Amino acid sequence: MSASDSHLQRKLQALRDSYSARLPGELEEIERVWRVLADGDWDPANADLLYRLAHGLAGAAGIFGYPQLSRHAVSLEQLLHRHLDEETAPDAGQRAAMERLLLQLREAAGGADTAAQPASGTENDAHRPADDPHHPLVYLLEDDAGVAEELALQLAHFGYRVEAFHDSAGLRDAVARRHPAAFIVDIILPEGRNAGLELMSELRHREAPEQPVIFISSRDDFEARLAAVRAGGDDYFVKPVEIAALIDSLDRLTQSVESEPWRILIVDDDATLAAQYAAILENAGMQVETVTRASAILKVLSEFHAELILMDVQMPECSGLELARVVRQQDGCEGIPIVFLSAETSTETRRKALHLGGDAFLTKPIDDDQLAAAITVRAERARFLNTLMLKDSLTGLLNHTRIKEQLAVEVSRARRAGGPLTFAMIDIDHFKNVNDRFGHMMGDHVIKTLARLFQQRLRRSDSIGRYGGEEFAVILPDCDLQLAGAILEEIRALFSAIRFAHKGEGFSVTFSAGLATWPEYDNPGDLNRAADEALYEAKRLGRDRIAVAGAQP
Ligand code: GH3
Ligand code: MG
Ligand code: MG
Repeated sequence: MSASDSHLQRKLQALRDSYSARLPGELEEIERVWRVLADGDWDPANADLLYRLAHGLAGAAGIFGYPQLSRHAVSLEQLLHRHLDEETAPDAGQRAAMERLLLQLREAAGGADTAAQPASGTENDAHRPADDPHHPLVYLLEDDAGVAEELALQLAHFGYRVEAFHDSAGLRDAVARRHPAAFIVDIILPEGRNAGLELMSELRHREAPEQPVIFISSRDDFEARLAAVRAGGDDYFVKPVEIAALIDSLDRLTQSVESEPWRILIVDDDATLAAQYAAILENAGMQVETVTRASAILKVLSEFHAELILMDVQMPECSGLELARVVRQQDGCEGIPIVFLSAETSTETRRKALHLGGDAFLTKPIDDDQLAAAITVRAERARFLNTLMLKDSLTGLLNHTRIKEQLAVEVSRARRAGGPLTFAMIDIDHFKNVNDRFGHMMGDHVIKTLARLFQQRLRRSDSIGRYGGEEFAVILPDCDLQLAGAILEEIRALFSAIRFAHKGEGFSVTFSAGLATWPEYDNPGDLNRAADEALYEAKRLGRDRIAVAGAQP
């Protein structure tokens, strides 16, 4: 098994594990909705919800190693679909059939079909630390069980593990055992109107948990907000809690969406010195490439997408000043900051360097911290300016032009490395309805929520772009169709399960996706067309699904 194979297998195994962990909750939800349906008089909205839950289960279970479960879910989905179509309620016999299917679902979920999974050798086994950085643990203190359950469910969609407590004592015990990554605490509890605040200030003082605290409350008065700040609150939400805003806050406070490291290119003919600078900057968390021959710079620039160049002035092939001009004449490099580094202190050289648009002139030898600090401030500013130009303002994802450029870059990289690569086009289903029924603001909110889900669920090496209004494009390097399909399917299932709320009315939204891989489609244009056609096919087949280019219908 090659290194990349085993990487794929590990990734698949991790996805399966996370699915298995989520499965009991999904089944419970299905059973809960079924009970409501069966005990009441067959409310069509609930029947539709159950249908969508069964549909999601059918898709995901098949992919994550539960073929039997998937088959039962398909049967349930079909039964329900018939009644939805004909707008009829099932008779006693049909209900009994559904009830049986539900029982079979439960049984089939008991064990994944292990034969369908790769042998889990030592490296596949989950040596997962208790504090899985991808699934931060959140303690939720909320006395209203309904609110707690709903919040926990929603946070789980975004990768948070939630332990809910209904009173102060429960939370206190839990903190004594283990600290979470963050707290979400209701202010008004049965113990008192300020009980949540009092508990947290007490915990801060005694147990001293430094983890962020988010208060939630129906109280919107100044006193409550001030008391929350004094109790160490990092954020404050008035109920009903806007889930996307809460996720934003949690992400920020727990930094579960890490920012990418600065990409710095070092140009210096002295390899030892270049390596030393590289070590300093890497140590400061940057991603570094080095070039020791001036003539190699163009090739590296085209592949590395440097955000800043640290350039030696005296080099044998040409001077750093000349090289800077060559760089500036490259497409896309007109604005890249260049920081010159030189032992020469003549004001004339400095003046020339700065005149050439060099952003700064540092003098060798330079202190480690000083170098890292000088690069950091300039890289930060460069990225900020780039963000204004290259990123979509609503979602922060790459804009249309940038994601297309990125596809070209990734395809040439796949060619050199031997691939694979998957390109996905995603389009929100019936999005016009969302705008029409709930307003444009709500529409924007749905777009942002999906963008965030992609950011959370995909790897750092994946590129995510907003292609147009409610269309997204994703590039997954080192990812074949099977793995890409599994990842997108997981995101599809998660997204469709998110409950949005507008003036007390709940609704959910789905998306369709089309996938195409390199080398099957061997240039960016073909990949784009093929993924787009697959997306169209997914829409045609009924939406809320993923279609693969070139697959037999
Ligand atoms: P389908 O399932 O076939 O994709 O149906 P649809 O309604 O999603 O597709 P259609 O392309 O007809 O409608 C897309 C709508 O998205 C039309 C446009 O008003 C809306 N839209 C585009 N960009 C934005 C945006 O930035 N914010 C909001 N709120 N709406 C947008
Ligand atoms: Mg569209
Ligand atoms: Mg659409």
